Amino acid sequence: MLKDEDRIFTNIYGMHDRSLAGAKSRGHWDGTAGILDKGAPWIVDQMKASGLRGRGGAGFPTGLKWSFMPKESDGRPSYLVVNADESEPGTCKDREIMRHDPHTLIEGCLIASFAMQAHACYIYIRGEYIREREALQLAIDEAYEDGLIGKNACGSGWDFDLYVAHGAGAYICGEETALLESLEGRKGMPRMKPPFPAGAGLYGCPTTVNNVESIAVVPTILRRGPEWFSSFGRPNNAGTKLFAISGHVNHPCVVEEAMSISFQELIDKHCGGIRGGWGNLKAIIPGGSSVPCLPAPIAKEAIMDFDWLREQRSGLGTAAVIVMDESTDIIKAIWRLSKFYKHESCGQCTPCREGTGWMMRVMDRLVTGEAEVEEIDMLFDVTKQVEGHTICALGDAAAWPIQGLIRHYRNEIEDRIKHKRTGRVSAVAAE
Ligand code: SF4
Repeated sequence: MLKDEDRIFTNIYGMHDRSLAGAKSRGHWDGTAGILDKGAPWIVDQMKASGLRGRGGAGFPTGLKWSFMPKESDGRPSYLVVNADESEPGTCKDREIMRHDPHTLIEGCLIASFAMQAHACYIYIRGEYIREREALQLAIDEAYEDGLIGKNACGSGWDFDLYVAHGAGAYICGEETALLESLEGRKGMPRMKPPFPAGAGLYGCPTTVNNVESIAVVPTILRRGPEWFSSFGRPNNAGTKLFAISGHVNHPCVVEEAMSISFQELIDKHCGGIRGGWGNLKAIIPGGSSVPCLPAPIAKEAIMDFDWLREQRSGLGTAAVIVMDESTDIIKAIWRLSKFYKHESCGQCTPCREGTGWMMRVMDRLVTGEAEVEEIDMLFDVTKQVEGHTICALGDAAAWPIQGLIRHYRNEIEDRIKHKRTGRVSAVAAE
């Protein structure tokens, strides 16, 4: 289990003072000017050496992403944009950072912006996060008053401004280019790539979009050193990570743990075990609603990191683990996700706009069993036609949960269809 002294987020439960004074007493904002003094290339190199991979779901190496930004300005300003949209069902980790430990994020914004030679940073926060926005803004005001950000931030000679932009509650605005569109005041619709944001992002200027957690861990990594961070987890899966566990566990929680912790340890140590015991586990969705589910036998062996879960044809995603016990109607659970993605599709590309609706309507019938067995393969085919054929990853996110369901629970789907025909009530979905 991760030791307390190795935790980056020391106030994730809000048990302590979240103000600037409290944050400083826990070691934040310590020697920030000295870090900036080492120069932008040094910071980027340290981040590369730490092995940090983006915490927003895609797992792209953070230091590498930063290195794509121009070293010399061609006259255009550079921007850092922090994605605090956190709208994926099951995901609730960035919320805890912003409402209880906001100074980790603010200090990270300064350092990361400096590393990319950006004088301005925007935090785009989810529409529903009203209290979180208030807590964050309060902390930003404190940082301005204390001279930590603003003109000559921390006395480093670097001018830095930090703004909070409040979304209106659309899931698609968590997609980085839709987020930029929304920041610019337009409808949140994803852009075609290329150009990538590092070339032409916010207002057509070089931009990096990073997740809240990816930025909030930066100051501690630089203070303690990349070797310290990479000592946790397995190679290529380094560091500590916030896990958000919900569903049928005894104590759902958000907890910082070492990457590559086993699923069993995560649940037993922090969540009080599975509701009704391990024998009652049916399935998990290990990384937020968009990754394929895994059945109990695989889940019990799971190593919670990017590579292991990808090998099982699932993913770590945002490390939001949704646990389902035997009382779950798994077909209905995945149907609910299909309904969500259909609702959140921005409608701009055909495979997603039409495909999400089509998939949801077949899922409607699989839930009640009023379908043909052959439709299962047809549905799988459609998910493959949507996957990888859309402008943004929402198409994939809609396809993957259904693929996971068919891969692992085909028998259950077939049984329901057959039993519906024979009229056996017990096999029909719970209302
Ligand atoms: Fe919009 Fe869906 Fe296309 Fe993404 S994949 S751009 S959400 S229609």
